[in-house]
Amino acid sequence: MRRKMAAGNWKMNGLLADLVQLDRIAATCPAPDADLLICLPASLIHPASQQVRHSAMMIGAQDCHWNAAGAHTGDISAVQLADAGAAAVILGHSERRADHQEDGATVRAKAQAAQASGLIAVICVGETLAERDAGATLDVIGAQLDASVPDSATADSVVIAYEPVWAIGTGRIATTDQIAEVHAFLRARLIDRFSPQTGGAIRLLYGGSVKPDNAAQIFAVPEVDGALVGGASLTADDFCPIVAAL
Ligand code: 13P
Repeated sequence: MRRKMAAGNWKMNGLLADLVQLDRIAATCPAPDADLLICLPASLIHPASQQVRHSAMMIGAQDCHWNAAGAHTGDISAVQLADAGAAAVILGHSERRADHQEDGATVRAKAQAAQASGLIAVICVGETLAERDAGATLDVIGAQLDASVPDSATADSVVIAYEPVWAIGTGRIATTDQIAEVHAFLRARLIDRFSPQTGGAIRLLYGGSVKPDNAAQIFAVPEVDGALVGGASLTADDFCPIVAAL
């Protein structure tokens, strides 16, 4: 049995005053049978982790460097994120792959650094609309998965998030058939590469315009173990109904 996960990605949103939402989430939608993870901008990680330290909520980051320390102006390491109280880090999000030219090898190196610091790596894969229209979805996702996930991956250290690029922030959601096809493909590929035990236990999240009104139908899709939620993770009012649908 894989433990469900509801993960929020605040992206480049949120000020200290917005951390009140974390208290609201912890108070109004506790999820004893699931993992709750909110991935914040680096500036909020330490205060947030202090604030939620008496709840089961995990605080995460949205990127890390592959080195532990050194001359990398503007970057932050997995060691530093763990030191600030993070328990997880999103890696290879399509916005970082596009804005910062991150490729699979980069994401894999970052995931190894995250694992070495005890952080869960939430590794994102997903096709663009052009790739889907060209019939290349599974080829693209398979290549991203193979390149981005380290050989050392375990079910405790790695979570995979399928986020079709065309469904992110667009309000356009993948159909349940599309989600089912990709998640079945990811599951088979992980089992093939690792083992039935490890590949069968790594959690698979769906992300892309997950909202209170569509969460239940997405969570009913086989091999969907939860969601990576952008816009609807910013407030407890939106996020809690998604957690409740898990
Ligand atoms: P939205 O839920 O805002 O579409 O964002 C999805 C996402 O990119 C989460 O990482």
